[in-house]
Amino acid sequence: MMDEIIKSLSMNLECIDYKLKESQYVFTVASIEKGVVCPYCNNPSSKVHSLYQREIQDLPIQDRQVILLINTRKMFCTNMECSHKTFAEKFDFVDSHGKKTKRLVSKILTTSTKLSSVSASVLLKSNSVKVCKSSICDLLKKNAIHCG
Ligand SMILES: [Zn+2]
Repeated sequence: MMDEIIKSLSMNLECIDYKLKESQYVFTVASIEKGVVCPYCNNPSSKVHSLYQREIQDLPIQDRQVILLINTRKMFCTNMECSHKTFAEKFDFVDSHGKKTKRLVSKILTTSTKLSSVSASVLLKSNSVKVCKSSICDLLKKNAIHCG
């Protein structure tokens, strides 16, 4: 079941580990693909520079907050003509520097467009989504929706 949740984000992800903390499900996930395509020159590379972990909030499950720990690779670009020596692995389901999955962001937006950001924050919290009033406003502004 856990693997299905992860596969619903991307078929190229696998669930390495998961823990149930008091009010959180914590999934450790990683890409199963060997190579990563360089975003600057579109050449695939499988030469790993280093690894780091991103912490991303996803849609809650059974009233528990869901945290994805994504093992992310920093790669060497092996194309000599490329303008960049290294690049970071990207995932379709989250923005490059995002802290929330796109599907969580759209849930927050759907909730917030109908309510004030204060009520939305309270409602989302009761649905196990951790988001503060100001980040709701930021999200609304980014999507050109008035923040009330
Ligand atoms: Zn490159």
